[in-house]
Amino acid sequence: MKRERIPVAVLAATGSVGQRFVQLLEGHPWFEVVAVTASDRSVGQPYGKACHWIVPEPMPERVAGLTVLPTAPDAVKVPLVFSALPADVAKEVEPAFAQAGMAVCSNASAYRRQADVPLLLPEVNPDHVRLVEVQRRRTGWKGCILTNPNCTSTGMTVALRALQAAFGLRKVFAVSLQAISGAGYPGVASMDIVDNAIPYVGGEEDKVEWEPRKMLGALNNDQVELADFTISAHTNRVAVSDGHLVCLSVELGSKATPQQAVQAFRDYQAPAASANLLFTPRPVIQVREEPDRPQPRLDRGAGAGMTTVVGRIRPDPLFDLKMVVLSHNTVRGAAGGSIYNAELLVDQGLLD
Ligand code: NAP
Repeated sequence: MKRERIPVAVLAATGSVGQRFVQLLEGHPWFEVVAVTASDRSVGQPYGKACHWIVPEPMPERVAGLTVLPTAPDAVKVPLVFSALPADVAKEVEPAFAQAGMAVCSNASAYRRQADVPLLLPEVNPDHVRLVEVQRRRTGWKGCILTNPNCTSTGMTVALRALQAAFGLRKVFAVSLQAISGAGYPGVASMDIVDNAIPYVGGEEDKVEWEPRKMLGALNNDQVELADFTISAHTNRVAVSDGHLVCLSVELGSKATPQQAVQAFRDYQAPAASANLLFTPRPVIQVREEPDRPQPRLDRGAGAGMTTVVGRIRPDPLFDLKMVVLSHNTVRGAAGGSIYNAELLVDQGLLD
């Protein structure tokens, strides 16, 4: 179906995730970046000057010439905004954009736990997008807020979805090795992270222990019932530029061999509502057979950074199975995920 391009803005466009939005939206057939915002530090400058570009692909020339606007609804008049705001700023600002009639596709954690805010991975829970109707009834907003999960929860939730659908889930033990780009720019000081690993990522373990349960929960009577299993998480920062690894041990609802789990991952498809969008991961899950994969540098580009890569699927002496999951944190875990959410919102006729 031929669509008019929808004018969109990127909020906090100068940061690590904001830059990914600008890069990934360039040439998108449905969305056109017409406005970029940031903090007072950058407002009034050309984007190309305000932004210290760290994405490996070149900055789109057209966006480089846009003047950075204040992050306020009256400065930005578009139907759809992508938010890469810090959580404390998002908490104040995102409702104002929604109230002003804009759909806000947010990366921030501020509203992920709000009952009527969808926390979405379209290849996992596209039906949860209907929560925006509940949200609109409660708030009276014409716009809405929808969120994507924290970047560490992202890949593991896709993998867990395939296991949940095939065998059920009882317990999950997760240990992350997270890339430095996940801390934004300039993020972790080089003196702290070079030749090192840091066994603490502030606020992350709570998110990883809770967010997958919302996404893997069932939507009943306009509410999400959290999925009934427990997650224990250790989160660690390592000296990798992009791509989060998560080592998972899982106790399943019914026993499965590693070969059956491999088959479940290979068979897993996005639900019909999200299977044929432009940012749909192709494939949703890639299984690596080599004993030393996935690796961030070699595998984060799978499916243009949208595919979840799983490997080292083997028996676990404590639980049932263990494995390693890789997801590109600023693409599938952030900007690419929000764009996929926006495509779902538009495709479901929920952007009015
Ligand atoms: P970042 O690199 O530190 O960028 C921060 C951005 O926020 C900059 O554009 C900055 O603008 C802007 N900003 C700061 N204060 C502001 C204010 N008061 N008003 C308007 N804009 C303001 O951070 P990031 O990694 O891109 O993260 C952005 C959000 O995405 C966070 O909520 C983060 O938790 C979430 N997230 C990040 C990842 C990831 O992998 N990095 C993944 C998932 C979710 P100036 O340049 O003008 O200062």
